[in-house]
Amino acid sequence: MTHALPGEADLQLLFARLNCEFFNGEAPDCKIHYNERFSNCAGRTTYGRQPLVVELSAKHFRRHPEALEETLLHEMIHAWCYAKFRDTGHGARFKRKMQECGLTSIYHDLGNAAPLKESSKRFILRCERCTFEVLRREPPRRPASCPRCNKRRFDERYPLAIYEVMELRAAGNSVEGVRAARKGPAR
Ligand SMILES: [Zn+2]
Ligand SMILES: [Zn+2]
Repeated sequence: MTHALPGEADLQLLFARLNCEFFNGEAPDCKIHYNERFSNCAGRTTYGRQPLVVELSAKHFRRHPEALEETLLHEMIHAWCYAKFRDTGHGARFKRKMQECGLTSIYHDLGNAAPLKESSKRFILRCERCTFEVLRREPPRRPASCPRCNKRRFDERYPLAIYEVMELRAAGNSVEGVRAARKGPAR
């Protein structure tokens, strides 16, 4: 069963509402959009340019529309931790904020299940012209150009921009049945 997704303008409105409700307006601006190509990843947050970019898997949330709001909230906590403390990952600050937001588990009600294995690939090289992307463990040592825009040689007209991935979450059990018990914000 698939559902219509909220449009990207609606996602920004949702972001604004959550920002007001849980972050006192202090979550940094994020550009939120769907990525049709994600098939085994529900969401991705990257920095390296302002605003931060949150991408959501269209495929995943068509099947699990109920998970969208909590997923966005989860990503916003990352963005907030990063903007305020340059903190990434699921550390103490993240957990405290998460509880304030009424999310019960980082791993979305998985209880004591093994923590979600986060991807070890932390860098995206991306061609802004054709949107070619490749994920890497390490940033490249030398400037790289897009192998699709010019197959033959390095071409400075088509540089690959480097973005660091704050989070790359696998679709499936990470977001499955996300219905975190929302207790309402602790103020
Ligand atoms: Zn390209
Ligand atoms: Zn996370």
